Amino acid sequence: MKLYSTNNHDLKIDFQSAVFNSMPQDKGLYMPVEIPALEQDFIQHLDRYTLREIAYKVSFALLQDDIPANDLKSIIDDAINFEAPLHPLDEDTYVLELFHGPSLAFKDFGARFMSRVMAYFLKDNEQLLDVLVATSGDTGGAVALGFLGVPNTRVTILYPKGKVSEIQELQLCSNGQNIRAIEIDGTFDDCQHLVKQAFADDELNSKRRLTSANSINIARLIPQTFYYFNAVAQLFRKGKREVVFAVPSGNFGNIAAGLLAYKMGLPVKQFIAATNVNDTVPRFLETGVYETRPSVQTYANAMDVGAPSNWVRIMALFNEQRESVKEMVKSYRYTDEQTVQAIADIYRQFNYVACPHTAIAWLAIQEYQKQQAPADDTFVFLSTAHPCKFPDIFPAEIAAKIDIPEQVNALRQKEKIATAMPVDFDAFKAFLLTAE
Ligand SMILES: *Cc1c(COP(=O)(O)O)cnc(C)c1O
Repeated sequence: MKLYSTNNHDLKIDFQSAVFNSMPQDKGLYMPVEIPALEQDFIQHLDRYTLREIAYKVSFALLQDDIPANDLKSIIDDAINFEAPLHPLDEDTYVLELFHGPSLAFKDFGARFMSRVMAYFLKDNEQLLDVLVATSGDTGGAVALGFLGVPNTRVTILYPKGKVSEIQELQLCSNGQNIRAIEIDGTFDDCQHLVKQAFADDELNSKRRLTSANSINIARLIPQTFYYFNAVAQLFRKGKREVVFAVPSGNFGNIAAGLLAYKMGLPVKQFIAATNVNDTVPRFLETGVYETRPSVQTYANAMDVGAPSNWVRIMALFNEQRESVKEMVKSYRYTDEQTVQAIADIYRQFNYVACPHTAIAWLAIQEYQKQQAPADDTFVFLSTAHPCKFPDIFPAEIAAKIDIPEQVNALRQKEKIATAMPVDFDAFKAFLLTAE
């Protein structure tokens, strides 16, 4: 696969370089030069394939020149070792549960695939890969658990003290092996700034092989297409064909992957991007003006993004035509009050507990349905995280209904290990340069 930069269509680089660079120098994002169309026979008979078989077919179409078939198959079997089931709420509405991986969030798909792809390409390279990641919660856990035990890699996570949930902190700080956590006495922005300073530091870069595991890496986007295909496969088995996907969106990577799947031939009637009050995209689709704003804190905090980085990828998929994007992507925004109300409504109507991000996607389906003439549609909203990760949001009655997964009980037995650090680049640099 050859990739270009959304800021420079003449730049062409191979997949391996794009994975390790993460982002082009010109600050665009990498996109495939050609988007392969999957065979009609495969698409028509998706229901015959398992999630892993689908993942292999889809990634092979993209990466056949980069990773030999057998190696790709091993990467998939190792990375995608959990399911993404559809849970019915009623006749036409399903939750696509993407939280059955080790960190209980959809980011496991991206992080597990990316870590194994990196380890694969590192084979002939002796220098340890130092992965740096700043997190406000979910990303760090997925990256930590994604890289845990992956040879020739080491992960350093920076997280803001007191600003992640208990379960998120356990996921960051209880791993040992090749994972290290630093508890920064500051904000998420401070963490991110320290990581950026590290990437700009000549001495560090000469002594360490640094890479970032952030969500714009092309190796995180590709595996997020798998569960869209697999959701349609599950619907085919139920005789359903017209599907509308609603996606809780922050940085817009998840929905960008859905739209990539659509461009590869997945039959989808409509996508709905659901946001919290960080509504840069809904405003853009309404007004035509793309105006980013500083992010505002909400209950759906993994979506608190004022400048969604993956939006340029979506525009690129639609040749920069806002009107074409508008046809395929509807977008709605919701406040914290609406989110809490939706959690209660979903619980009362369907006896189902949805995390705040997920509840926002459900709201968007209600709004879309009101605006459309009745049709024989099937609605699928993506559940991006397990509700137990956000215990403070739920009223006690609903919180009591949350099943705590096995992974979490196991975490609670472990010791928390983190290095406390002030917001001080010299201290962070010294940490990275000492000890092997
Ligand atoms: C990261 C995240 C999102 C937002 O996904 P994007 O790809 O950034 O749009 C939504 N919900 C949860 C739980 C997340 O962790």
